[in-house]
Amino acid sequence: MSRDTPSVETAPTDRHGEALVSVRDLEKHYDTGVSLLDRLLGGGSNPVRAVDGVSFDINRGETLGLVGESGCGKSTVGQTILRLESPTAGSVSFDGDPLAERGDLTGFRRNAQILFQDPFSSLDPRMPVGESVRQPLEIHDWPWDGQGNPAERRHERVAELIERVGLSTTQLDRYPGEFSGGQLQRIGIARALALDPDFVVLDEPTSALDVSVQAQVLNLLADLQSEFDLTYLFISHDLGVIRYICDRIAVMYLGEIVETAPAEQLFTDPRHPYTEALLESVPRVDLQERERDIDPLAGDVPSPRNPPSGCRFRTRCPAVIPPDGLDIEQESFRAITDVRDRIADREIAVETTRDALAETTEGEPGEERVAARLYDRLVDVELPEPERRRVQEGLQAVAAGEWDRAAEHLRERYESVCETDHPTGQVSCHLFEQ
Ligand code: SF4
Repeated sequence: MSRDTPSVETAPTDRHGEALVSVRDLEKHYDTGVSLLDRLLGGGSNPVRAVDGVSFDINRGETLGLVGESGCGKSTVGQTILRLESPTAGSVSFDGDPLAERGDLTGFRRNAQILFQDPFSSLDPRMPVGESVRQPLEIHDWPWDGQGNPAERRHERVAELIERVGLSTTQLDRYPGEFSGGQLQRIGIARALALDPDFVVLDEPTSALDVSVQAQVLNLLADLQSEFDLTYLFISHDLGVIRYICDRIAVMYLGEIVETAPAEQLFTDPRHPYTEALLESVPRVDLQERERDIDPLAGDVPSPRNPPSGCRFRTRCPAVIPPDGLDIEQESFRAITDVRDRIADREIAVETTRDALAETTEGEPGEERVAARLYDRLVDVELPEPERRRVQEGLQAVAAGEWDRAAEHLRERYESVCETDHPTGQVSCHLFEQ
């Protein structure tokens, strides 16, 4: 869809509910070549899987929030949709047309804009702000209807935009350094709207602003959305901001979307354990709620070069599904699988333990004693029988140098569907697959 005459009076379309942006199985991998570690391990290059099979629609007039921890790939999704990054695989359609089939992306680039997080670095410090707002009009040779004097029309358009975002035309000749963060973000908004786009990616647009200014900018974005019939992809790590402005929310973890839901539903009835943990880790404004213990997300985010098998959240999930027939507390199951994984990765200091024991006893300690010491060091919860015995058997095999047998002994009994099968669906978790 292209427009010939951008105007602040653009009438809303009656096509709400139709997908304006459709993303299917989008991947963006960064191949950084073969590292020294790759070579030492005898393998090839291991790309960073920043975005790894993401699908969603954004309907006309809607704001879809994309939320997740830093580094989960959400900004890369926005940039790949806009073709600021080329996708490794997958497709993006805009207004029904796959971008890959459009030879010329000029029309799309006019119609799809981005507002970046940092208003200070997204404007040229040596250029008066009026020129920055005018620049897209010049690059795209606006006005396209051929009427009037182009320079005058652009001047009027810039003045119209700058006033609409709450600034004065007397400020157009000033430089970015003369404005506050909130004012600069308003100028960024005017620039993003210069060509009257249908779609805007808002990439953490308020994160760099003072809290007092954030609400003003969010209100402005909401007003502009209804006035110009805009469709937004709102990227943020801030759940409070996301809740305030978004209609639907997609939650990202390690390059994948794990849950998509209407905004209110996501906050009142989160389904995916990651969404729950993310909400749980947010400090609350409500006085009573402030008293509650905040449960921070446990563990580190794994490397996007080597994401965990099965469900990517399994290394931090507080609800990993034990194998059929194994009735066990989550804490105990986690302790067992931690030992099992350390055995599989040969990350247990057997010889150090044996040497330490030898110093306190006469002669070489037997495998049983080494295993018992390893057990004490590695398992800090009370395991029920027969699990305690089985873990000890595994450690005894380790003490005997039989690492593969030990790993297999524990894998046989403790392998979870969460690590063997990749979950799919609106809520990407095996707990919701029945
Ligand atoms: S699939 Fe398993 S590990 Fe992943 S979120 Fe669900 S319960 Fe947790």
